[in-house]
Amino acid sequence: MNFNLISPQSTGELLEVIAENQSNKFRFGAGCTDLILELKKQPDEELIVINLAQLSDNRFTSIEKNHDEVRIGALVTANSITSDEELRRRFPVLYESANKLGSRQIRQVATIGGNLCTASPAGDIACALAALEARCEILSANGITRIIPMNDFFIDVRKTDLKNDEILRSVLTPANNESPKVYSDYIKIGTRCSMEIAVVSLAYHIQADEDDKITKAGIAIGSVAPTIKLVKSACEYLIGRDFSAVSSSEAEEFAAKVVEYASPISDIRASAWYREEVLYNISKSIFEN
Ligand SMILES: Cc1cc2nc3c(=O)[nH]c(=O)nc-3n(C[C@H](O)[C@H](O)[C@H](O)COP(=O)(O)OP(=O)(O)OC[C@H]3O[C@@H](n4cnc5c(N)ncnc54)[C@H](O)[C@@H]3O)c2cc1C
Repeated sequence: MNFNLISPQSTGELLEVIAENQSNKFRFGAGCTDLILELKKQPDEELIVINLAQLSDNRFTSIEKNHDEVRIGALVTANSITSDEELRRRFPVLYESANKLGSRQIRQVATIGGNLCTASPAGDIACALAALEARCEILSANGITRIIPMNDFFIDVRKTDLKNDEILRSVLTPANNESPKVYSDYIKIGTRCSMEIAVVSLAYHIQADEDDKITKAGIAIGSVAPTIKLVKSACEYLIGRDFSAVSSSEAEEFAAKVVEYASPISDIRASAWYREEVLYNISKSIFEN
C-alpha cells in the first residue's frame, strides 16, 4: 500500500499541515483500523495520510473530568475508556459500548474520534455518546473551534458535518453526576458473540430521582438508519414516569416510539423486518427486571 505519511507532533504543526494540504487529497489516520481497510480496497498513491498518532496535546489525547462536563480527546482509545473506573461508574453505557467494540487488539488502538468520524451507523462508541447527548468539539485549520451536538454531527452514512479544513478534537459529555439513580447500558445485537458489527444496537442512559421518577433520558439507536439517532420523542415519553413501575403497555408504547426513528435496510446480515422487530423488543426490555 502506497501513500504519503505526515506525522505532526503538535497542534500547531497539525493545523499548518491541514492548511497546506487544502488542495491535495488527504485523510486523517488515528488508530487506522478503519482507514487501512479502506485504503487496501481503494489504493490511492496520491493520498496524503495525516497521522495523528504522534500528536502530543492533552486536548486530543486525554480524559478530563470536571464537575459539569467530561471531555474525552478524539485520540482516546476504546481501551482507555474501559480501563477508566470512574467513567465506568458514571457512564456504564460508554464503558459497555467500548468493551463490546471489536477485539482486544482492535480496542487497543481504535479511537473515539475514529469511531465518530467514520460515521458508520453501527459505531458502538458513537451510539453511546449520542445517548449521553455528547457534543463534538471541532477545530479548524485557522485555530477556531466550534461545538455541535452529536445529533448534528452525523449527516448521512459515512458522512459527517466536518469541513475539509476541520478535525474533531474532543467530545464533551454532560457530567450527569447528581442523579441519585442511573440506568445505563449498551445493548448490541449481532450475528455472533465476538468481533461483530452490530445488526441492531440501543444505548440508554436514564437518570431518576430518589423516588425512581425519571428526570432525564438519553436513548440512541444504531444500525437501523443511515446514521445513529437520538430518539427524542421516546426520551421525552419517559420523563416523569417511575422507572421501576413502567407497565408493559407503557414499555410497548415507548418501544413503538423508538421504532419510529428506524428506517433499516435489508442486507447480508439481517432483513429490515428483523432489525425493526429486534429494536422493538430490546427497547421494551429496558424495563424488565
Ligand atoms: C476487525 C475489526 C473489527 C471492528 N469492530 C468494530 C465494532 O465492533 N464496533 C465498531 O464500532 N467498530 C468496529 N470496527 C471499526 C473501527 O475499529 C472503529 O470504528 C474505530 O473506533 C475506528 O477508530 P480508528 O482510530 O482506528 O479510526 P481510523 O481508522 O484512524 O479513522 C477512521 C476515519 O475517521 C477519520 N478520523 C479519525 N480521527 C479523526 C479526527 N480526530 N478528526 C477527523 N477525522 C478523523 C479518518 O480520516 C477515517 O476516515 C472494527 C474494525 C475492524 C478492522
